[in-house]
Amino acid sequence: MIKPDLIYVAGAGRSGSTLLDILIGHQEGYCSCGELRRLIPAYLAGELCSCGRRLNECPVWHRVVERWAADSNLDQEGIKRFARMELEYTHPVGARAWYAILGPMRSWSYRWYLDNKRRLLEVLTSDLAGQVIVDSSKSPVNLIHTARALRGGVMVVHLVRHPWAVIESLSRGHDKAHEKGVQRDIPPRSRVRTAVYWLIINWACQVCIRLSRCESRRIRYEHLVDNPTDTIRKLCADARIHGEIRVGHLCAGNRLRMQRTVMVNAGAGLVAGAPDRLAYRLLDRLYRHYGC
Ligand SMILES: [Zn+2]
Repeated sequence: MIKPDLIYVAGAGRSGSTLLDILIGHQEGYCSCGELRRLIPAYLAGELCSCGRRLNECPVWHRVVERWAADSNLDQEGIKRFARMELEYTHPVGARAWYAILGPMRSWSYRWYLDNKRRLLEVLTSDLAGQVIVDSSKSPVNLIHTARALRGGVMVVHLVRHPWAVIESLSRGHDKAHEKGVQRDIPPRSRVRTAVYWLIINWACQVCIRLSRCESRRIRYEHLVDNPTDTIRKLCADARIHGEIRVGHLCAGNRLRMQRTVMVNAGAGLVAGAPDRLAYRLLDRLYRHYGC
């Protein structure tokens, strides 16, 4: 198995991307980075790294961002401009993001954004001294930007979780808790809205994987938690997972990243709820479509 330069985790929110990021990053020669598309916006907002420090005080991210800004000749205004573009161009259903990947012309501002993204990834690659970057940004459109910026060397993992479990998870909101890694209030989301969101994002992942022409694997969250070693072996040849897994420096992601260590519990992927309901059976059929 040829090692890529970057493993990109794509999929819907609450599908277990942060857990997958941590498990891959635990392997020799791989490094968990969290949701890289949020790095610069989160850095400017003073959000926390998984090491417990603010990103601008974390030795890893402070070094990377300072060197990137110097290499790219970006002052504070330039960094803020890049942060705004990063959120806009990587928004999973944003019009500007989709125009950038499907439109006939690359605008000047998109080329500027892509150049700076390329330099950011180059600085990170050089800082990690040859380790494979693990980016759990999830956004399918951002996969295209990342593949264009790196000009190859990207392996995509399309992570799919049962929609019923995603609905259950998103129907529970969270209050803002900075120290727990919840940077803003997350209101509960309606079941219908989540079902539509799950369909659109997973369809967009298939489209963007095809457009990116990157090597790809599809993983079910339920298989990952039931048999993590075999699942990670699909991505890293000699995977080993046992005991507690240490969490490194993830710049953004689910609140799971704020734990110092994580454990994988077999059976945690089981879907709770009412499996006899029509809505469940319909969603279950859609999920089976992603057989892997
Ligand atoms: Zn850190």
